[in-house]
Amino acid sequence: MFDALLLEKTDAGFVAGVQALDESRLPEGDVTVRVEYSTLNYKDALAITNRSPVVRAWPMVAGIDGAGEVVESSHSAWRRGDRVIHNGWGAGETRWGCLAGMARLNGDGLVRVPGSMTTRQAMAIGTAGYTAMLCVLALERHGVQPGHGDVLVTGATGGVGSVATAVLSRLGHAVTCATGKPSEADYLQRLGARHVIDRAELSAAGKPLQKERWAAVVDAVGSTTLANALAQTRYGGVVAACGLAGGHDLPTTVMPFILRGVTLAGVDSVYAPIALRREAWSRLARDLDPAALESMIEDIGLSDAIDKAQDLMAGRVRGRVVVEV
Ligand code: NDP
Repeated sequence: MFDALLLEKTDAGFVAGVQALDESRLPEGDVTVRVEYSTLNYKDALAITNRSPVVRAWPMVAGIDGAGEVVESSHSAWRRGDRVIHNGWGAGETRWGCLAGMARLNGDGLVRVPGSMTTRQAMAIGTAGYTAMLCVLALERHGVQPGHGDVLVTGATGGVGSVATAVLSRLGHAVTCATGKPSEADYLQRLGARHVIDRAELSAAGKPLQKERWAAVVDAVGSTTLANALAQTRYGGVVAACGLAGGHDLPTTVMPFILRGVTLAGVDSVYAPIALRREAWSRLARDLDPAALESMIEDIGLSDAIDKAQDLMAGRVRGRVVVEV
């Protein structure tokens, strides 16, 4: 038996709760993992609070991410005792996820925990942090280098924003953080932010082209924030878009693209190819300061995850939530 955060649709409606499940109920898969840590990402909070149709099969064990030890494997790459990370691939959406003591997963999608990293640190990073690194890699692929100019990070006190701020600063970029939590300016500066601005500066509809401010942008917010970020990006700059915390619309024009050669780089973590995942995790091991990561972490247990998901949806969480399962 193992404990799991189970999401169910019953006659009485949606129910989320921790239940003891029998291992025989685990789904098909070639690797069985004893999950040590999971985490709460934005998408997990959407699923656990039933705020948007993330879950597409019922009942569902929540949790898009997990890190732990292989206990059984018929996959040639993995053996009992290997430490693995799972991110995305529909876990917690279409197949059972990792907010559970055990998970059965597809070995092709797993990444080895980098040597120096603990499974707790891996889940402190989680999909949010791995997506922040995918954004950094997208900027680099388009030629952005330290010294090119200011880099804007939106949704800065969130998971993606915190890790992006820490990594970009450590790489030598001058990071400006946009946040709705001015009281967290010290936190962002400790992560390396050079400047902290009020997100309200970016949230109202603006002109199609504005004063050129950013060499690059990591955007977790979308909507008018992303439109303004594009309109303020310098000639030849790059904007990595990964999130929709402020809305899934994008009320922009072609002007930044056709008059300033701005590149809008889309970033998806869920079905990112395995080679890119390995690159992102090895760069996280190298470029994310463990002390900065530690300052982002709030540790909770599985039974706290439902309340914490409500807090996350209400914008009351800073940084990353690690769930010990
Ligand atoms: P968090 O909840 O940790 O952070 C989101 C942050 O966005 C908040 O902390 C807040 O930061 C800001 N924010 C919240 N609501 C609003 C609003 N209405 N307007 C403007 N800013 C807002 O989430 P994550 O960092 O985990 O994820 C961020 C986004 O990225 C989400 O939309 C998520 O779905 C997406 N995502 C996408 C992935 C992909 O594969 N493309 C993978 C992972 C995440 P502050 O208070 O500092 O302003």
